Amino acid sequence: MTMSNARKDAIAAVISWKESSHRLEADAPRAEDVFGRDVFSERVMRQRLPKEVFKRVQRTIKQGEPLDPSIADTVANAMKEWALENGATHYTHWFQPLTGSTAEKHDSFLAPDGTGGAIVEFSGETLVQGEPDASSFPSGGVRATFEARGYTAWDATSPVFLSRGVNNVTLCIPTAFVSWTGDALDLKTPLLRSIDALSEQAMRALRLFGTDPGVNRVLTTVGSEQEYFLIDRNYYFARPDLMICDRTLFGAKATKDQQLEDHYFGSIPPRVLAYMAECERELFRLGVPVKTRHNEVSPAQYEIAPIFEASNVAADHQMVVMETLKRIAPRYGLVCVLHEKPFAGINGSGKHNNWSMSTDTGVNLLDPREETHTNMQFLFFLCAVIKAVDTHAELLRAAVASAGNDHRLGANEAPPAIVSIYLGDMLTDIVNQLEQGSPSSTKRGGKLDLGARTLPQIPRHAGDRNRTSPFAFTGNKFEFRAVGSSAAIAWPNTVLNTIVADALDEMVTELEKAAGKAPTPQRLEGAVKTLLRKVIKDHRRVLFDGDGYTEEWKKEAARRGMPNLRETVAALESLSNKRNADLFKKHAVLSKTEYESRRHVLIEKYVKQVTIEATTMLAMARTTILPAVLEHQTGLAEALATAEGAELECSALRETAEEYADMVGQFQQAMSRLEEAVDHRGDGDPLAHARQLRDQVRPAMAELREASDDLERQTSDDLWPLPTYREMLFIR
Ligand code: ADP
Ligand code: MG
Repeated sequence: MTMSNARKDAIAAVISWKESSHRLEADAPRAEDVFGRDVFSERVMRQRLPKEVFKRVQRTIKQGEPLDPSIADTVANAMKEWALENGATHYTHWFQPLTGSTAEKHDSFLAPDGTGGAIVEFSGETLVQGEPDASSFPSGGVRATFEARGYTAWDATSPVFLSRGVNNVTLCIPTAFVSWTGDALDLKTPLLRSIDALSEQAMRALRLFGTDPGVNRVLTTVGSEQEYFLIDRNYYFARPDLMICDRTLFGAKATKDQQLEDHYFGSIPPRVLAYMAECERELFRLGVPVKTRHNEVSPAQYEIAPIFEASNVAADHQMVVMETLKRIAPRYGLVCVLHEKPFAGINGSGKHNNWSMSTDTGVNLLDPREETHTNMQFLFFLCAVIKAVDTHAELLRAAVASAGNDHRLGANEAPPAIVSIYLGDMLTDIVNQLEQGSPSSTKRGGKLDLGARTLPQIPRHAGDRNRTSPFAFTGNKFEFRAVGSSAAIAWPNTVLNTIVADALDEMVTELEKAAGKAPTPQRLEGAVKTLLRKVIKDHRRVLFDGDGYTEEWKKEAARRGMPNLRETVAALESLSNKRNADLFKKHAVLSKTEYESRRHVLIEKYVKQVTIEATTMLAMARTTILPAVLEHQTGLAEALATAEGAELECSALRETAEEYADMVGQFQQAMSRLEEAVDHRGDGDPLAHARQLRDQVRPAMAELREASDDLERQTSDDLWPLPTYREMLFIR
């Protein structure tokens, strides 16, 4: 008997990939020379636009001034010339519908000239506005299909870029996507609005604190670290579950995985490093400032992280990073898997969303200066974040909820589903002092002696590391660690910006009441101290520096009255709370209709995703696993019959055959139970359907998986039809 063909072929192909060398051309251009080459950047605009037009576009980009339509033609023409010189033939309005991926429809620059020839055309109007057929994008009911029109509108604050492929170069114009009534149908529009909302409130605060008059706006900054898996394509295509669901629905653990902790920060396999270098080179061309690469905790898991940028640009660039990781992988015989939990039993992937607020002159508002306790402005902004996260913990939790992230959050490898804030020793100390009265001393980081004379002493970061916290202060920014690896970051950041805008709004209003709109420094200081003491008293329950993975913390959090929304359906149910819709409306981030549509889309997405997983699982169980285990069972039965015929002692063999038959029986029963659970359709209410999937379908899936994984451990390796965890994770 031979090992199932698909598996054997896959392994042979992987080994041949492993052994072939992958090298970038020796004359590859230097990174600093290609950086931003495919971006219609400030530098390019300065060269190609008349001075006056250049200045006006820059005012739109940097100060958020509305774009003057009269200059659009000039800008479009310069853009077209630049694109054509770089080989582009087409342009596209590039946008982020509620699917969570990006969308594009390409149009050629060519138009017939009426005499049998063609001219190249690209007007200001085409640059500024597009009209894709929007009828097939999810809208959560905002836009009935009979009125399918949706518009895309140029977002001048995010740079235009070229996408390159075989035989094609396309000019990509980042756009917002809205319905003809002006409702947002995308992820970008509310993000832009939330940045404005936060800017408005933060500027009120800065005016009170007497800030530099050169500051016109406050922006939020984001640097998001992306974790991902790389799986050889041969395995990927031999596993219907990976292909369809981006995760394995079956698979017994390998005898070794991450216990030896030998993968984290380990040396990067040559094939993977070659892949990473090519991804980076393409990202550099697109002006995406990727900085860091390393192995992650799980075997076959890696990370890429950029330098932070303004959050609207960071959100677009994050989409480009995910798209690039996926697009380049096949060139190295790999598939990039962005799912939050591709493999059970080992760490999944997240996306650490590093977030801060900054003035348009580049001052980070969450950067404590030397003597933190005297830095009232810093403490004010810090406390606003504390207040925001505590007040809107459920909303923040719901912002990262997805069927995929359910396997990760709270699974003792990723932050728990309870939203708490880690501040570190120094800030906790200051916050405690502040609650009691005036802070009078800053706990110094102190030196960390590494114990070896040849190593330099490095100052201990007063903001320590705590990997178990979902929301950690890390020196000069917050790191929101609960975001899923496959998620678009626009929505979690929209929520973050909006809740902080709201906290700032309330706090500034109180401050203005207490001290007046133009207070003296003494009056202001008194009022700020009183206010911050109150904010800390009201919200200190959200602060937690301990181990977030423990059972004690769950109990303690419950005692503190903090929400613990364990999985997606509970999180999405909390969105029905009216105060969320009110919050978005108050800050003009989402209208009631827009908010409701998003809620529906999220629920629908959960329902579809879990249903697809369950049906894929059934198909695999029926057509791939069952035939293999029946063959093994037949083999056992035949061996037993032969032994009995020869009058050999065969009690152990009989026992094995009986036990195995028993396991096959359990597997078949689990299949029937899942089938029944999937067939049980509700009355059409999506939330009820989501609950049914959570309460009946998911547990039935877990049972079926367990039954199959038990069989995998007992079945002849030659017969097992699916690439195993050992192969996928270790032959690479
Ligand atoms: P880590 O030790 O977690 O890797 P780093 O300091 O290297 O921390 O930063 C991780 C991410 O945080 C990077 O993408 C970095 O650019 C980003 N980051 C740093 N400062 C800020 C900031 N002020 N706002 C947003 N992101 C930031
Ligand atoms: Mg980090």
